[in-house]
Amino acid sequence: MDEKLWKINYSEIPKFPCPRCNDGRLRIKKDEQFLTYEPNWVTDELDEASLRGEMSVGKFAGLLRCEETECDEAVAICGEYSVSHEQVFRNRYDEFDVESKWVYTISRLSPMPRIVKIPDGLSEECVEQIQGACELFFVDLGACANKLRVATEKLLDHLQVPNQRSLADRINDFEKKQPGHKPIFDALRHVGNVGSHEGKSDFEYVIDCFSLMEFALEELVEKRSAKIAATAGKIVASKGKPTP
Ligand SMILES: [Zn+2]
Repeated sequence: MDEKLWKINYSEIPKFPCPRCNDGRLRIKKDEQFLTYEPNWVTDELDEASLRGEMSVGKFAGLLRCEETECDEAVAICGEYSVSHEQVFRNRYDEFDVESKWVYTISRLSPMPRIVKIPDGLSEECVEQIQGACELFFVDLGACANKLRVATEKLLDHLQVPNQRSLADRINDFEKKQPGHKPIFDALRHVGNVGSHEGKSDFEYVIDCFSLMEFALEELVEKRSAKIAATAGKIVASKGKPTP
């Protein structure tokens, strides 16, 4: 997971991963496929404030396309933008360049790219909840956080932890069976509380929880550490001689 990719605001549209092939990156291929529009009511307000020409606020919409030509998936993007234009003087003869600072706030990417890697073999119920959380990321952060919490329940189902008890009890049950993961699960247990906690912004908190979920999936479903230890063990056992 690329944590830096997921933000509230962007100064330019980044290259999100393709939701179809997951290998390619999305980009704006043709300028005409990306539009910005300032409505009249904004123009009037900017006029009144004597800011017309210095800044603009409005909506943007466009199509991003996968760079992998065989895939070529199209993803619709939309949201709100603001831009401010500033004169930057180059020299003492009053020659200047205009620097524009854009801010894009995405309200929707459709279809939505995956924020975390989903390993093969994960239960369909858990995949559905994680994908649901990704879908809601730009749309409704509170609902996104709730989906992540449900995904945590579904992950414990996948790990065959009996589900008659509370999530806190189930985490303790799993800790007895396979120790070392309680802090991660406890953090994910609290993710549903977005909006009711203090300190870190909700946005960063949800990103952290996506990151923890990805780690839990790698360790407990993909069994990454165990596989790496087995590979290392095999090399050590053969004393570095490749097996025929
Ligand atoms: Zn693609």
